[in-house]
This record gives sequence, structure tokens and C-alpha cells, in this order.
Amino acid sequence: MSAAAPDAIRNVIIIGSGPSGYTAAVYAARASLHPLVFEGSVTAGGALMNTTEVENFPGFRDGIMGPALMDEMRAQAERFGAELVPDDVVEVDLAGEVKVVRTATDTYRAHAVILATGSGYRKLGLPREEELSGRGVSWCATCDGFFFREQHIAVVGGGDSAVEEATFLTRFGSKVSLIVRRDELRASKIMQERAFNDPKLEIEWNSVVEEINGEDRLESVTLKDTVTGETRILPATGLFIAIGHDPRSELLRGQVDLDDDGYVLVDHPSTATNLPGVFACGDLVDHHYRQAITAAGTGCAAALDAERFLADRE
Ligand code: FAD
Repeated sequence: MSAAAPDAIRNVIIIGSGPSGYTAAVYAARASLHPLVFEGSVTAGGALMNTTEVENFPGFRDGIMGPALMDEMRAQAERFGAELVPDDVVEVDLAGEVKVVRTATDTYRAHAVILATGSGYRKLGLPREEELSGRGVSWCATCDGFFFREQHIAVVGGGDSAVEEATFLTRFGSKVSLIVRRDELRASKIMQERAFNDPKLEIEWNSVVEEINGEDRLESVTLKDTVTGETRILPATGLFIAIGHDPRSELLRGQVDLDDDGYVLVDHPSTATNLPGVFACGDLVDHHYRQAITAAGTGCAAALDAERFLADRE
């Protein structure tokens, strides 16, 4: 785990430790590039550290717990010689031929950098939200919808993704309640029509979630009417929060090109950013699929792109 002397110029530095960062590390390490990986000081392992069962990552027919999957990826990267540093990168200077990466205490240099800092789902900020995450509360219908077969599911949000998630969840739930703050949806007309015509989907208009209730698992949510101020209990064993997500790209502003929502722009199908030697992968780039396997896939691509870039400059 001990980082090499900060003053040596590395082949490649990887920033981020989710499925994309660790996969990039496995590939870069097996290519003898001796990657240095910054894992983050609090959230090493990425988004799956906050979940329970992962049933859709290929290779685990009985499923695997999120933290166990990330421990395996981490150990695999270490096995091939990746150096893992449980620290946050606080500043980068990526424009020059030698890239500079700083933590609070040290400065590191490399010829190539892979950005893999992921994105964060927006939260409601309510007391039981974190405790019941993976126990009824979820941010990903594709990941967790299957667990709620024949159950009453609530979905929060009024935009395209909320309506899409709610419509998708009617495949599993006995009933889906879409909780919408206003008396209209922000979603596109076609998505709205799909929702209105779905017999399993009911809309709770002018409503916000005021409380998330349940001891070990979600049992209900308390809704507050935004017009009258009245509260009511909505029994539900699943709550999907679909109010948006933000890429972790604050560090990169003014460094690499970002789209209007802050995601890093790459030259698809490669992982190259606008800066030579700087590659980006995972949910930091992808606002469409956002799955562990797609993040791992682009992490692999970023390592291969970095490997070719380094070979070409020799
Ligand atoms: P992340 O996993 O977000 O990892 C990025 C990590 O980079 C951060 O956590 C942090 O450790 C590190 N980092 C960030 N900034 C810095 C910095 N400045 N310095 C150093 N390190 C930094 N997907 C599935 O396929 N199946 C599922 O069942 C599933 N369940 C999910 C359940 C939950 C609760 C959540 C939140 C997501 C779930 N997902 C699931 C989605 C999946 O977790 C993500 O798509 C995937 O983790 C994205 O990987 P990533 O490597 O791009 O980013």
C-alpha cells in the first residue's frame, strides 16, 4: 500500500476506486505499468460499498454482496502490482506532458492519468435514508427492481428518469406509486403518456416524502401534501429515489472538457479526453447505463488506451 516516492514520474495514475478504477488498475498492472491508484479516503471501493446483494455482475451465479465484490476487485489489482493509496486527490494539473496530481500532503507525477471518480446519486437527505439503503431504499431500478416482485413500490421524482424507472418497475411490483412534488410531470410527453396508460402506476401529485419509516426494512413513507400541508402514510416496501445524480468532476473543472451536466467528454468509442494522455471511464463519463459492468468495461478500455498512448510516446 505504501506509495512510491512522490517525486518519481509514474507511467499511469488512476483516480478512483470503483469498478472502473479497479478494472483499469488490473489491466494497467498486468501490462507492467505499475499503476498508482488513489482510492479516496472515505469511500474506497465506490458506490457498491453502499449496497447489499449484487445479482447482475457476471460470474457470480448466486449473487455477491457489493463490498465483497469490491474487495475481490481490489485484491485482484493488488495481486498484479497496482499500488493503492487510500487518499483523496485534491488538485490536478493535466495539461502538460507530465501530469501532476496532488493530495493534501504530497505531489505525484505521471505520463498518463485515468479519471474514474464516478458519480453520486442525489439523496433526499432524510434520517432513515442511509440506514435503509439496500433494505428497501434504492437508487437504481435496473439493479434492484427484481427484489421487489409483487410488492408495493414507491418512486420519487417527476423527470424522465423517474417516470422511466416507475414504468420499468411495474414489471415487478404489484403497484407502483410515483411521488411528484408538483401537479405536473417534467418528463417528456411520450414518457408521460406511457405512465398515464400504465394500469399498475398511480401518481401521488403535489407530494413530497417527509419521512422514511421502518426498523430493519422499509415499511412505509410519510408523504406531505405540498398544497394543504397535510401528511399521510403510504405503505411501501420499496422506495426508489430518482431525483438525479452528479458526476464527481469538481476537481476537473477548467482541466478537461465537460458536458453541460459536468460529465467528462470522451472521444467515443475510446476513453480519450481532449487532453493527450488523460483518459476517463465509468459513471464519471456515462449518464446512460450506470452499471458496475459497464463501468468495469470502460475501465478496461481506459487502461488499454493509456497503454497504447504510453507505447506510442516511447
Ligand atoms: P464509483 O463506484 O462511484 O467509484 C468512484 C470512486 O472513486 C469513489 O467512490 C471514490 O472512492 C473515488 N474517488 C472519487 N473522487 C476521488 C478523489 N478526488 N480522489 C480519490 N478517489 C476519489 N450497479 C450494478 O451493476 N448492479 C447493482 O446491483 C448496483 N447496485 C447499486 C446500488 C447502489 C446503492 C448504488 C449507489 C449503485 C449501484 N449500482 C449497481 C451502480 C454501480 O455501483 C455504479 O454504476 C458503479 O459503481 C460505477 O463505478 P465507477 O467506478 O464509475 O464509480
